[in-house]
Amino acid sequence: MCFPSRTFHTLFWCFLFFVVAISAQQKPVNRSTSPILGFSSPHAAAQHELEANFQSIPSPDKAREWHRTFTAEPHPAASERNNQLAEFIADEWRKQGWEDVVLRRYDILHSRPRTVSLEMIVPVAYTAGLREDPYDVDPDTKNPAVSGSYFGYSASGDVTAEVVYAHSGNPEDYDLLRKNGISVKGKIVLVRYSNPYSYRGFKALTAEREGAAALLIYSDPAEDGWTRGKVFPDGPWGPESHIQRGAITYDYIVPGDPTTPGWASVAGAKHIAPEEARSLPKIVGLPLSWRDAKPLLENMNGPEAPKDWQGALPISYRFTGAVKVHVKVGMDTSIQPYTVVEARIRGSELPDEWVLLGNHRDAWAFGGVDPSSGTASMMELTRSLGELKQHGIRPRRTLVVCSWDGEEYALTGSTEWGEQFADDLKKKLVAYLNVDESVAGAAMTAGPEGLSFSPSAVASLAPMLVEVSKDVRAPSGKTLYEAWRATRIRNSKAAKPPTDSALVETRIGSGSDHTVFLNHLGRPVINLGFTGEYGVYHSMYDDHYWMSHIGDPTFEYHVTLTRIWGLVALRLANADILPFDFGFNGTALEQFLRELEQKNNLKSHLNLKSLHARFGEFAEAGNLLRGAVTKDQSLDHASAEKLQHLNTQLLQIESNWLDPAGIPGRPWFQHLLYSSRYTYAHLELPGLTEAVEKQDWKLAAQQATVLERAVQKNTELLRSARSSWEKTNP
Ligand SMILES: [Zn+2]
Repeated sequence: MCFPSRTFHTLFWCFLFFVVAISAQQKPVNRSTSPILGFSSPHAAAQHELEANFQSIPSPDKAREWHRTFTAEPHPAASERNNQLAEFIADEWRKQGWEDVVLRRYDILHSRPRTVSLEMIVPVAYTAGLREDPYDVDPDTKNPAVSGSYFGYSASGDVTAEVVYAHSGNPEDYDLLRKNGISVKGKIVLVRYSNPYSYRGFKALTAEREGAAALLIYSDPAEDGWTRGKVFPDGPWGPESHIQRGAITYDYIVPGDPTTPGWASVAGAKHIAPEEARSLPKIVGLPLSWRDAKPLLENMNGPEAPKDWQGALPISYRFTGAVKVHVKVGMDTSIQPYTVVEARIRGSELPDEWVLLGNHRDAWAFGGVDPSSGTASMMELTRSLGELKQHGIRPRRTLVVCSWDGEEYALTGSTEWGEQFADDLKKKLVAYLNVDESVAGAAMTAGPEGLSFSPSAVASLAPMLVEVSKDVRAPSGKTLYEAWRATRIRNSKAAKPPTDSALVETRIGSGSDHTVFLNHLGRPVINLGFTGEYGVYHSMYDDHYWMSHIGDPTFEYHVTLTRIWGLVALRLANADILPFDFGFNGTALEQFLRELEQKNNLKSHLNLKSLHARFGEFAEAGNLLRGAVTKDQSLDHASAEKLQHLNTQLLQIESNWLDPAGIPGRPWFQHLLYSSRYTYAHLELPGLTEAVEKQDWKLAAQQATVLERAVQKNTELLRSARSSWEKTNP
């Protein structure tokens, strides 16, 4: 038995009350009777009942209202509006019935623009506007509180120099310039945003290493403008003046407040000098619209760049020639308060096991997609879970929810909070469920299959996520599972649908608030969201008009996201046995290793045979444990002690992937299986992979041994979990 009978009794009457209370106003949700991973049969039935009730609560109209509230004004980190929104969320959570609502304050080295200007002085005079155009149909675009162009954490400086076009600003682009006899030392480098995509902070570090004096990054219409389709306000893509703001922090080395690397910026904490901070750029940077970049590009008269460097503007893109600009960036860097809002619903039986939900609050401007779509989905989630709690329905484990601050700057709020509560989180956190942008795509142009459901999850939780998707309905009317498969076929143009095991993306990069929990604290994470055509990222046009006319006019995607988020949370919170699948996890690890071998020529330098064997044994032990737990409904007869013992072991397996030494060169990143590249792209088996890519074979062999030891330890733990499960009866 898991539910003490008293709780179960209460639950039963609450369900009855609920069914009566809601059936009058909501359309019924199909009720599943299928088994659920980690649930005994009676508990699976109760869980389905609970989930049906939960799913009937979120409403598209309420989601729209939340969205309008959060996007009414620009709300970047450390702004008065963003701090007001923190108070607003805290008040709402209290009203919704959440407990222990607190505002956590951190003193952060913040960065905001004082003076920013750009002029071309040779061969013709041009003053860049550095502002976005207003449109009559969307009065928000006339709001004077919207910022002009800037990069968070740009260095301050006043530079006059010649311009060099360096394509995407990735290392191979500078190699090509070198081959053409062009150095960027002391020059101003002009690059475009995404071809292929790399995080702008990586472009900044690369330009800094190349000795450039300043970096300009512009949005080429080939990537997010008229080449792709209709532009705002008629379609989802970026118009000529749209500017992609953003931070250029080196948070792939260490995220959070740059002056408190590895510890929390609580009141009185020690801060290192900014000059010592590894994550602060030393280069001046500025984002540009294509309208401001075009005069620079078209006035160059040097050698023409190769075909794949040509963008969509009707000019020929050249490496260099005749263009000199004056760029001036004055940043105000000072300690500012950031606020994380935190609340919980205490678990009825296992209050010291936490399922954490989170979304960031700060936005570069209005944040229509990023992050306020996620915030609207979150507020519907907390309202729905609060309503269940007001009717006496508590989850068995504790639900914690956080509204993060300063994600846009350096994943700052979540990092500081994670560092502050590291000891607790390492012991208590079952999983973190992150939603940054819940709807980052245009339903208007998505076609009949709709927007793509694009979650990512650590491999051990991928199967449970697929299972949950079968019990949620997508806006198209199909189950989310069917819609997910259909959009995957559409997007990949594949003839047949992906297998269930290929549905979830199990490779997880950085760039959002899951980073501290996965990479620093070794806790499992899931990211949820819908994606599609979206070209106004971090611009002023990412606003309520975009969302309510182009992105999700019915707000049904927002609510679908609330439902899947809530179901994942409720399953993790109520499961008899935590639904980790280490058999699947082991198979994914073998795949990661095969990919590493395929992409790199290891020749005789490194033998990974025994690591393959260890991953295989881990997968087998995981499958055997799952078999033992599901055999003969042994779960139905297990004692609470027996279940608890197994859950403790399962959580320990996730913890064992953490190596306190960290990966070579980046000690803050301590997960042995997951990290991210400097571009924010996913990076599996990071210590080993980076050593192999550097062809440092001695280090690679060392890293393989570190991995082998961790896998071996976990295989033994899986085996002992199985034998104690089979031994103790019931
Ligand atoms: Zn975001």
